[in-house]
Amino acid sequence: MKLNGTSSNTPSNGQAVNGHPANPVGMPAWEVDELVDEIGDAHGAASVDTPMRADAFAMDDDLKIDLIEEHFREIMTIMGLDLTDDSLKGSPRRVAKMYINEIFSGLNPANKPKPTLFDNKFGYDEMLVEKDITVQTYCEHHFVPILGKAHVAYISSGKVIGLSKLNRVVEYFSKRPQVQERLTIQIADELKRVLETEDVAVIIDAKHLCVSTRGIRDINSSTVTSSYSGKFAEDATKQELLRYVSQPSVTI
Ligand SMILES: [Zn+2]
Repeated sequence: MKLNGTSSNTPSNGQAVNGHPANPVGMPAWEVDELVDEIGDAHGAASVDTPMRADAFAMDDDLKIDLIEEHFREIMTIMGLDLTDDSLKGSPRRVAKMYINEIFSGLNPANKPKPTLFDNKFGYDEMLVEKDITVQTYCEHHFVPILGKAHVAYISSGKVIGLSKLNRVVEYFSKRPQVQERLTIQIADELKRVLETEDVAVIIDAKHLCVSTRGIRDINSSTVTSSYSGKFAEDATKQELLRYVSQPSVTI
């Protein structure tokens, strides 16, 4: 199978992919375009968006799982593993399903959480901080986990969001091959868009398994990235947030 590695502006061009038609679900070109546009979310800087092919959703999930299974079996075979072994024979399909249905399901905008917004009835106008949100994402350079915590904060512009939705937004953008800088910005941009405010901050502190288990093999270092917008770019507000984040969490 030869997939052109670079993104193209033309949606499905009818080329066969490993014997399968490139657009087997018959999705019209405009619909493919619309989905890809939604991924971009028109935030301008292309580097903020996950680099996606124009025909990213030309195949349905079942076909993607079948193809990944086939190719992962090939990878294991090339490595010399005996796929007739009881323990190994199910691995290609397990990996394929895990990629599409679980750890990379955030590539598909259809899986994006719908925000539940409420009126700010209490007139609460201080910052709200949701700290220690679990981050489990995958380095897009090595396809191994990046594990850590996110702290997100916002100041209401009139609407408040269900607390679990903050976790869901972190989770959705984490379920992609990622770089930590992009993940931080994608979460911040989505919260600004949904909450209709610039007053948003995101901090991520995470360990990269590509740093700890290979290469330099440093098991102690972690990487911190941050995005401070609106009032959070002002020193007093930023310092208040950092105070909350650095306090130990309550235990119950
Ligand atoms: Zn890496």
